[in-house]
Amino acid sequence: MIQIEHLSKSYTLKANSTHHALHDVNLTIADGEVYGIIGASGAGKSTLVRCVNLLERPTEGRILIDGNDITHYRGKKLLELRSRIGMIFQHFSLFEQRTVLRNVTFPLELRKDTKAHREERGHELLELVGLGNKADSYPSQLSGGQKQRVAIARALALAPTIMLCDEATSALDTRTTASILELLKDINEKLGVTMLVITHSLAVADKVCDKIAVIDEGRIVESGATRQVLTNPASPITRELLRYDLLGAADASSDADGISDGAGQSAVGEELVTADAPAPGNEQERA
Ligand code: ADP
Repeated sequence: MIQIEHLSKSYTLKANSTHHALHDVNLTIADGEVYGIIGASGAGKSTLVRCVNLLERPTEGRILIDGNDITHYRGKKLLELRSRIGMIFQHFSLFEQRTVLRNVTFPLELRKDTKAHREERGHELLELVGLGNKADSYPSQLSGGQKQRVAIARALALAPTIMLCDEATSALDTRTTASILELLKDINEKLGVTMLVITHSLAVADKVCDKIAVIDEGRIVESGATRQVLTNPASPITRELLRYDLLGAADASSDADGISDGAGQSAVGEELVTADAPAPGNEQERA
């Protein structure tokens, strides 16, 4: 379980001014839950999630994981904490000079696992994400969806119990987004990994999240079961986000091929909610 208690984060800017990115955030995420953090750009989503693995240090408040207060972990304890928390990003962050397999096994190299174990684990993870035949390829030879699959496999290398997904589908088209969300849900169900999913898209949240919290200007404005929040939004901010998602869906459906680019991702709206996701590995390959 992750408990976030009275969490605040301020950044000191030049000229000695302070920016308050998070204010008194309280959230509880149960084991095995997929929990969405929803909000517009600049709302504080990334800051909040990055506090969970201490890429950002909270200014006030505390974070407990499985009852242990991790807020001030450093050194060995911090490394051990991070090994239990995988993370994926919008732009994949792969090593271009390494093969797919050696991207996935990178965390195991850092841990000084044997080559035989690294390779066995790497192949097992590539099978899991539907890329069993891409071990020797390089990232430049993969589609965006395949790159994100490699990043997911790498994030799972150390068998984390928590995964942080920071706008993981925002650079992908509608169909690929659906297949990556299917994969994340599959991993959540098969491996029981607790997931914190940052997204500005309510359609994405609706597809994978058991619960969501809506954040605006660093404050949680509402939270609860995803369908409950989306069908009965209590906050004007949620209603506004819903309106933009639906507007985006209208834009997307007027598109000839129905595929939006990365910039229009907020956009996939209703279309994504109802889309049938293709099986893992089915997104089109780049020629
Ligand atoms: P989101 O993920 O919702 O787009 P962020 O958490 O990235 O939002 O940012 C929240 C606010 O904090 C924004 O106004 C952003 O400019 C500010 N911020 C984020 N990181 C820093 C930083 N390192 N220094 C100063 N301000 C920051």
